[in-house]
Amino acid sequence: MVLYYVFIIFVVGSIISSIAQFMVRGFVGNFTLSLKIRFVSAVTLFIASCSGLLLVFGNLLLMLSKWSDPTLEVIYTGSDLFVTLTNNTKVITDKTCVMITVLILISSFVNYYVKQTELAFFKDETTKRTFYTKARMFAKEYMTNEFGNFGPEIYCPICSCMIRDAAPHRFKCPNCGFDVSLDAFESDI
Ligand SMILES: [Zn+2]
Repeated sequence: MVLYYVFIIFVVGSIISSIAQFMVRGFVGNFTLSLKIRFVSAVTLFIASCSGLLLVFGNLLLMLSKWSDPTLEVIYTGSDLFVTLTNNTKVITDKTCVMITVLILISSFVNYYVKQTELAFFKDETTKRTFYTKARMFAKEYMTNEFGNFGPEIYCPICSCMIRDAAPHRFKCPNCGFDVSLDAFESDI
């Protein structure tokens, strides 16, 4: 059941890092730290989703291999492979499968919510201003080329969505709504 523990550790890690990201942004306004935590959150969510789905899918194959027609070789090969890979010979209960699916959905939702700019929580205007000023400074410093222009394809520093139609001095993220204009750098919050 190693895979099960991997799933539990990473799904809990993903939810905790999303909450940490929420706190660091909303209460501290620290963009750089929030960016680092977002990376941890994305990696842990990816590992949790992969291990969780493998667990549910593998157990589904195990169940099918017990009930199905013996001519369905692919199910036997799949379930044998799963047993070999995970050292899992016991079918986990339906309740565990449902719990794994629900946990994946919760952690994905929390991860998605924390990345949204329009729904972002800030304890006051100063925190919000600090956060977005840092985010815009980051965009100006790390996302522009040697001429101070944005490239045609850039990634949003808030939610990591790809932005294809960035103008040389301006972009608006289609996913989270983060808006940067280098010409009106200070005033545009
Ligand atoms: Zn975005």
